[in-house]
Amino acid sequence: MTSKPRRVNLIVVHCSDSPFGDAALIDHWHHARGWRGIGYHFVILNGYPDEESYIQRRPKFYLDGVVENGRPLDRIGAHVRGHNRNSVGVCLIGKRQFTQQQFKSLVRIIEQLKADHPELSVAGHYELLKPGDTPKTCPNIDMDWLRGLMV
Ligand SMILES: [Zn+2]
Repeated sequence: MTSKPRRVNLIVVHCSDSPFGDAALIDHWHHARGWRGIGYHFVILNGYPDEESYIQRRPKFYLDGVVENGRPLDRIGAHVRGHNRNSVGVCLIGKRQFTQQQFKSLVRIIEQLKADHPELSVAGHYELLKPGDTPKTCPNIDMDWLRGLMV
């Protein structure tokens, strides 16, 4: 196997804009939109993997902060128009509230990727919008604050 690794210099943070979910559910949602399955490379769980656990207010704490794999890293994702080729997409489950465990996992993923890709920069989806894109606030996190956690 000598496939050339793709050049990655950007990690893009997203949120699921749903209070629950996991990689399998997002894969299902993305297939339902006619896409080729999950467009993110990583999903960071919040303890509510499905609607039932959320509606019944029964968090599965053992899933809080767990990182699931989506699309393989060596494949181009489908998560941000115009920036997919050179980026890795990470999705935190949640709308506006995220857990400390999720942020810990996010920082860990970014630091691991930085070890392999020293030129990696970190952006939120909303920072990469182009003219004509639907306005978004995804991932509903102050990205300057997040980047401040990394130094
Ligand atoms: Zn997004």
